Amino acid sequence: MSKQNLLGYTRGQMEDIFVSLGEKAYHGKQLFKWLYNNQQYDFQLMSDMSKELRNRLDNEFEFRPLELRQEVKSTDGTEKYLFALDDGHPIETVLIPEAERSTLCISSQAGCALACSFCATGKMGFVRNLTVGEMIGQLMYVRDRRGSDSFTNVVFMGMGEPFNNYDNTLNALDIMCDHSGLGIAARRVTVSTVGIIPKIRKYAESGQKANLALSLHAATQEKRERLVPVAKKYPLDELIDALCYYTGITKRRVMIEYILFAGINDSKDDALALARLLQGLPCKINVLTCNPVAGLGFDAPSDEIVDTFVNILYPRAPAVTVRKSRGQDIDAACGQLAAKAD
Ligand code: SF4
Repeated sequence: MSKQNLLGYTRGQMEDIFVSLGEKAYHGKQLFKWLYNNQQYDFQLMSDMSKELRNRLDNEFEFRPLELRQEVKSTDGTEKYLFALDDGHPIETVLIPEAERSTLCISSQAGCALACSFCATGKMGFVRNLTVGEMIGQLMYVRDRRGSDSFTNVVFMGMGEPFNNYDNTLNALDIMCDHSGLGIAARRVTVSTVGIIPKIRKYAESGQKANLALSLHAATQEKRERLVPVAKKYPLDELIDALCYYTGITKRRVMIEYILFAGINDSKDDALALARLLQGLPCKINVLTCNPVAGLGFDAPSDEIVDTFVNILYPRAPAVTVRKSRGQDIDAACGQLAAKAD
């Protein structure tokens, strides 16, 4: 009989497992803490459980981490991990160390169905949703290998659209932010969506405290549809309404991600349209430059154009930052993840 993999269960689900075994629910909390908080994966060393229970766990359960296929390091220190899932599908995780903080960028799906025109993952097509264990496993692998201080922040900006894998993403957030689990402060975790409106509203009502980011990339409906095809289904005016709903309920600002593509969305008019669109929305704007993917036909604008664009935004928008691209040489930058093993 194959053993059940315990990676990916929330505290409540672990308690339920023990109850279904005819054991006390509090053992679920003990096990949850051992696995996620104490990094103890050997049932026999869980010293607050009886020998009999430890033997039973050994016989019926296992903790199966993700299998690493490849690890590459960029000249700027960015690291990319390629994992093989149990069914062989590859996914990627990126660690971006910076002076003040280090960010782990995790995947929520193998491939992606949304086919954003600038994105290598979108070009792969959709393979399948990741399980909670496969999402959490990315963090645990990096933590176990590189130490618990190897990242301070987590972003769902790797492969996939997390709100198209909503329930698993929310359960993964529960494990990450539970103080008995991975214990990461919710303000250091960000879920990034391209604008799945019903799920933005649902997330607003969920009580989950992790930050929300929107990959906007264009301030008009016509340009947005060209870059992010799902915008046809979720139009810009309704999207801004949903973000207002989110900020109203949560009292938190939303992060707006705007990638500049040369000659497409980087003009003075684009900057003015962006400032107008976001007027009144509690937000921070993150301006990035395009990371070219071979064959997709997008380029980054010059530094001069980037400066002009952000200088128009500065006095008109509450908070604007310009983020440097990281890990381009190893295809680990935003939009470049395509999970190919060399
Ligand atoms: S940018 Fe995000 S949502 Fe769009 S295709 Fe790529 S992974 Fe999917």
